[in-house]
Amino acid sequence: MDIGGFQKTSLIDFPETIACIIFTQGCNFICPYCHNPDLVADPQKRVGNFYDETEIFRFLKKRQGFIEGVVITGGEPTLQTDLFFFCQKIKDMGYKLKLDSNGARPRVLENLIKNKLVDFISMDIKTNLENYHLVIPEKFDTANIVESTRILMDKAPAYEFRTTCTRPFVSKKIMDDIGKMISGAPKYILQKCSRKVSVLDPDFLSTDKNFFSDKEMIELQNTINQCVTASIIR
Ligand code: SF4
Repeated sequence: MDIGGFQKTSLIDFPETIACIIFTQGCNFICPYCHNPDLVADPQKRVGNFYDETEIFRFLKKRQGFIEGVVITGGEPTLQTDLFFFCQKIKDMGYKLKLDSNGARPRVLENLIKNKLVDFISMDIKTNLENYHLVIPEKFDTANIVESTRILMDKAPAYEFRTTCTRPFVSKKIMDDIGKMISGAPKYILQKCSRKVSVLDPDFLSTDKNFFSDKEMIELQNTINQCVTASIIR
C-alpha cells in the first residue's frame, strides 16, 4: 500500500466509531476543490516519505480495545493493488473498517463487500453523469459510477453517498439527476466546500461564484430529499 498520510484518532470520520485514518497515495480524478491535493499525485511522484505499513500495524496492535475502527481514504484507495489483503489484515485484528471511494472501480468495491472486508462505504458522487468529464481522465467510463452506486445499494452492509457542493459540478438540476441515480438511498451528505484549506486548483478558491450560500445549500438539500431517506449538510 502507498500510504501518504495517517491520523491516529478521529471521532467524526466513521459513524459512531472511534477510528484512525489511513490516507492512500494517488487518485485517478482531478477535482479542483480536492482538500487532499498532496495525496492526488501518482505514488511515483510523491514529495515526502510514505508511512510504513509495519508501523501502522504495530500501532493497530497496541490500540486494540481503545480504537474500534479504521478508515481508509485517499487519494483513491481502490487503486491500491494490495487493498484486499490490507483490509483482510485489519479485519483479522477485529477492527471495523470504513472505506471512502470515488466509485471508479466497482469490481474492487464488490469484492471487498463479498468477502465481508468492509463495514461501511462512503462514496463520492461528484456531479451528474453528463458532467463527470470535468473531474475525470478522458478514457474513464461513467458506467463505473452507476455500477458502484448499484453495488452499494444492493450489497453493502452500510453506506452513504456524498457530494461536495460547488459550481459548476452541482446545481438544482444536477442534484435532481443525482437523486434519480440513487433513488431510495438511506443517507446523503451535502458537503460545503471550505475555502480555508489548500486545494488541487488554488484558482478555484478565488472565484466567489463557485460557492453556494447557506440558503442555496438548503435548496439543494430540498431537491435531493425528494429521492433519499435522510440528508445532512456539513
Ligand atoms: S476529491 Fe477525492 S476523488 Fe477528487 S481528486 Fe481529491 S482524492 Fe481524488
